[in-house]
Amino acid sequence: MCAIVMNEAIDELAARFRGDLVLPESPDYDEVRRIYNGMIDRRPAIIARCTDAGDVIAAVNYAREHELPLSVRGGGHHGAGLSMCDDGLVVDLSLMKGVRVDPGHRTALVLPGCTLGDVDHATHAFGLATPTGIMSTTGMAGLTLGGGTGHLTRRYGLTIDNLISADMVLADGSFVTASESEHPDLFWAIRGGGGNFGVVTAFQFRLHPVHTVYAGPMCWDVEKADEILRWYREFLPAQEDELGGAFTFRVIPARAPFPEEHWGRPVAIIIWCHTGAKERAEAAFAPIREMFGPPLIDLVRPMALPELQAMSDAMYPPGLQWYWKADFFDDLPDEAIARTVEFGSNLATPLSIAQIAPIDGAAGRVANDATAWSWRDAIWTLVIVGVSEDPADMGRITQWTRDYWEAVHPWSAGGAYVNMMMDEGQERVRAAYRGNYDRLAAIKARYDPNNLFRLNQNIHPRTGTA
Ligand SMILES: Cc1cc2nc3c(=O)[nH]c(=O)nc-3n(C[C@H](O)[C@H](O)[C@H](O)COP(=O)(O)OP(=O)(O)OC[C@H]3O[C@@H](n4cnc5c(N)ncnc54)[C@H](O)[C@@H]3O)c2cc1C
Repeated sequence: MCAIVMNEAIDELAARFRGDLVLPESPDYDEVRRIYNGMIDRRPAIIARCTDAGDVIAAVNYAREHELPLSVRGGGHHGAGLSMCDDGLVVDLSLMKGVRVDPGHRTALVLPGCTLGDVDHATHAFGLATPTGIMSTTGMAGLTLGGGTGHLTRRYGLTIDNLISADMVLADGSFVTASESEHPDLFWAIRGGGGNFGVVTAFQFRLHPVHTVYAGPMCWDVEKADEILRWYREFLPAQEDELGGAFTFRVIPARAPFPEEHWGRPVAIIIWCHTGAKERAEAAFAPIREMFGPPLIDLVRPMALPELQAMSDAMYPPGLQWYWKADFFDDLPDEAIARTVEFGSNLATPLSIAQIAPIDGAAGRVANDATAWSWRDAIWTLVIVGVSEDPADMGRITQWTRDYWEAVHPWSAGGAYVNMMMDEGQERVRAAYRGNYDRLAAIKARYDPNNLFRLNQNIHPRTGTA
């Protein structure tokens, strides 16, 4: 579009829009287009900073009518930076914040600009929580639509298992609520199908009584990683759902609360989270504290759930270089452990990590076809994350992550997790949905036949039965 026509068209949008329209010439353009992964540098034509569903409808209609590429930004955390597009329109929801807790019914209404921390803060005041991810700065919207794994997964399932309904603006600009009783096909699809089906303007979640957890990191020298992992793979799946724990390779950061003598040391960590009674938690941890000799660092103690959720935030501020890949595993045979120890003990950079986390328990008791998220029978996720402050490390963290992934992938269950993928192509998107892909493609054809919502881990619309 030429400049004059473009200006007239933007005036037309501005007349229908209440929030800010940020354009390349706007003074805050560079700040607003910045997202979590510092590797991503995209230049949209318009960033539509929405204030309500009315703004979302106006922005979606405008992008469709003017055939502009459209991306949707929640918390801006996706590794591949899918929320920002070049030369198109960004439906930016980050100003739409708000959580209304209904303590009587144990539900929360959450607006799409909320981070996990916003949700935790609001629900914690009532001694309630819904399962989310492990860093409080992550956007609730994208995390939920992709599935949502974290510290409470074994106890209360994936985030989508706690979704009651979602208000949505569809590709044709219409507004619907998706739930078990309204548009159940759409409700099935958005529980794992990502941003393919429309823009969610409000989520309603089920809450659970979780206030203080017995939790935190227990660290051992990385030399013990092989022994600890062989024990961990047998131990955790045999425990009650109230115990969760993510095994992590990382380097001890140079900051409190980590003791100075261990700063910079590579370690094997289990970040525990016990949601049961304190006595039960202490009884569970007592033998573990002896099993491999006393841990180098043991910060496991009673803490408020939001404290656990925010524990890593300061180490990973926005703007770092970030490249990651993930896999699902049904089991962790000795050979897979040996390869993961080899790479995990030699992280690409001090900020890089690799984490094995459980997805059994409550999440694993849901059928593979009950929601779009189709890896319920897997027991573990492995996420390999190359991170650096320095853009010059981009090649190194990318290569290390890919090499690590290639080394362990032969033992994986296959598949992919759309929340923890870069732009990895159609084959990996299909692998994420395995037997559910065709049903998703048919639902996509019903709700977004022209693939307006295509800047995501894209499911191509295809006619068929669903
Ligand atoms: C530091 C960090 C920690 C993480 N930890 C976890 C974790 O513990 N567990 C886990 O499961 N994942 C985790 N993730 C992955 C995270 O779930 C995804 O990156 C997710 O996309 C983030 O959501 P967002 O709203 O911030 O994303 P954005 O980048 O804003 O959006 C990602 C995509 O989601 C879609 N989307 C976002 N909002 C909406 C909406 N309202 N309506 C429709 N579509 C929308 C769009 O397609 C968009 O492209 C983590 C990511 C990071 C960077």
